[in-house]
Amino acid sequence: MSNRVELSVVIPLYNEEDSVEPLYAELSPVLNELGRTYEVILVDDGSKDASFARLKAIHDRDPHWKVIRFRRNYGQTAGLSAGFEQAEGDVVITLDADLQNDPRDIPKLLDKMEEGDYDIVSGWRKDRKEPFLSRRLPSMTANWLISTTTGVVLHDYGCTLKAYRRVVTKNIHLYGELHRFIPAVASSIGVTVSEVPVNDRARRFGKSKYGIMRTFRVLLDLITVRFILSYSTRPLQIFGGAGLAMGALGILIGFYLSYVKLILGENIGDRPLLILAVLLLILGVQMVSIGLVAEIVIRTYHESQEKPIYMVREYLGHDSEEVEAKQASPEI
Ligand code: UDP
Ligand code: MG
Repeated sequence: MSNRVELSVVIPLYNEEDSVEPLYAELSPVLNELGRTYEVILVDDGSKDASFARLKAIHDRDPHWKVIRFRRNYGQTAGLSAGFEQAEGDVVITLDADLQNDPRDIPKLLDKMEEGDYDIVSGWRKDRKEPFLSRRLPSMTANWLISTTTGVVLHDYGCTLKAYRRVVTKNIHLYGELHRFIPAVASSIGVTVSEVPVNDRARRFGKSKYGIMRTFRVLLDLITVRFILSYSTRPLQIFGGAGLAMGALGILIGFYLSYVKLILGENIGDRPLLILAVLLLILGVQMVSIGLVAEIVIRTYHESQEKPIYMVREYLGHDSEEVEAKQASPEI
């Protein structure tokens, strides 16, 4: 039991050479004082500066700190994903490497998690230090949009400082820029989420890796998340629904035009309505077909991975002790 890891801290990092040592100096004392066994997993996301050499130096003197080095830059989401894969802890904390998150907030997250038995505790940068127009406004808009479309209401999706129970990090699959949607994506496996205000600090070294373009990528990812959350096990219902509505409208217009042509004897060859009717009919057939193809894809997806369409929290049956022993995650 003694060398079981209770807490994993996952930190993706890209070209942050000057932040590495200060990060170690700030984070280590906090973790040592917690009195839990821990590991820190740094994911060097293809840095081109001295980040890796500095991380290696730290790993050589403190084996708590482990380093995964990517072959090239894959992005923050891939970094977190690699860290989650490797993490052994019952609880996983994510953190930025640029010192903008304050490691001293970690105990707050953990206390909150224990207090309400939450699966995710998210940091909320109540008092942000970044410029309003280029940073805080897009972020506020994104938080509002994500909260309303996914139903998981958080003030600060963008804050990397978050704590997750193992069940979350081991059961979600991340693509694109999806790391900021983890609480929303995780709602598909049924999680309890809470947030605590955390300290936000200005960047001390290096510069931000993102510009305003991120907003658009986040928007597209939001569409993906919304789709995955509501329709990923029944795609025909969304595509088929739209297809049927369009097709029906097309047929109605077609009947009307037939009436005009056959009964009233008027010419319909130059009517815009004719084009609309044809368009709606073709679109309708296509939508239904896409829905059917998606149904087949989704079946392949679930069955090839033996990925169930549900997640069990507890099972009370005759052999419940055995099941519990297998499933229960040890207390943090
Ligand atoms: N990061 C990364 N890979 C990337 C871009 C960023 O691992 O391709 C890391 C970066 O080193 C930092 C964290 O992700 O630790 C957040 O990035 P950044 O500080 O640039 O974002 P911001 O705080 O400006 O939103
Ligand atoms: Mg930052």
